[in-house]
Amino acid sequence: MTPLLEVKGLQQYFPIKSGFLKKTTGYVKAVDGIDLKVYPGETLGIVGESGCGKSTTGRTILRLLEPTAGEVWFDGKDLAKLSKEEMRRMRKDLQMIFQDPYASLNPRMTIKQILMESLMVHKIGTTAERERIIEEIIEVVGLRKEHLNRHPHDFSGGQRQRIGIARALVVKPKLIIADEPVSALDVSIQSQVLNLLKDLKKEFNLTLMFISHDLSVVKHLCDRIAVMYLGRVVEIADKRTLFENPSHPYTRALLSAVPVAKPRQKRERILLQGDLPSPANPPSGCTFHPRCPYATEICKTKAPSLSDIGAGQLVSCHLVQSGQLK
Ligand code: SF4
Ligand code: MG
Repeated sequence: MTPLLEVKGLQQYFPIKSGFLKKTTGYVKAVDGIDLKVYPGETLGIVGESGCGKSTTGRTILRLLEPTAGEVWFDGKDLAKLSKEEMRRMRKDLQMIFQDPYASLNPRMTIKQILMESLMVHKIGTTAERERIIEEIIEVVGLRKEHLNRHPHDFSGGQRQRIGIARALVVKPKLIIADEPVSALDVSIQSQVLNLLKDLKKEFNLTLMFISHDLSVVKHLCDRIAVMYLGRVVEIADKRTLFENPSHPYTRALLSAVPVAKPRQKRERILLQGDLPSPANPPSGCTFHPRCPYATEICKTKAPSLSDIGAGQLVSCHLVQSGQLK
């Protein structure tokens, strides 16, 4: 199957400026050469600790941040090469759901105006059709027509996120990137919004990229999962493989911290040593080596590449690739 989105060698380096003359003295390598594919109708989860570059990856794909390098193939076009105007038109097909819907909803506009604006920007429908689309979409996300004339501050966090979802859906995008869409919500509300996304995914055959620091959230919704560490992808696999047979030592450590329903499946807790290093000064070789319980000499000098260890499971680790780590 042809991927809907294919990211190749994506980089996002932020310059570090210092001194009176604001000279560039280095770079924060927030995204450091990422390859990803998202297939039509699937949900790809992107997980990792905060600061690993997940959100920056999403924003760079959508050109909310200009990429430093790399290609972003979507529907036969390299988004990284489009002009601002071409990209603006493309946004109809590429929508984002943000972590904090409140910050992204204009407080002076009614919900109807917010949704209408999206349709108008992308020249969708006549006025009458727009009215009808908006009335439909508000019910699809579990709110009512009466809500349309209210303002964002009249709603709870969960309701605001429903509005954020409606705004993304209303233009019928081909791909939605959801960046931690439930992490600002109370736990009780989180599952309602996740269930809504799950239903919508089925109903509209949505293709989603779902960014989260929380593996149990990703497990709920995703078909495949990519694990990020310090601006790179260290493992990608389908959900079942990742949860039953995690291979990269970092994935194993992340999973060992997730509570499991059946105690028989309980994994030994792997505690990572030290903190996440600074992406301004990443460790040499495999950037995970200072925290990896299995690191050997080669790990300090040679960076592993992401390669297929079978059944579409891609892992970036010398020991896994050589079969020394099962
Ligand atoms: Fe650990 Fe080495 Fe594998 Fe990196 S390459 S994850 S340091 S064993
Ligand atoms: Mg983030």
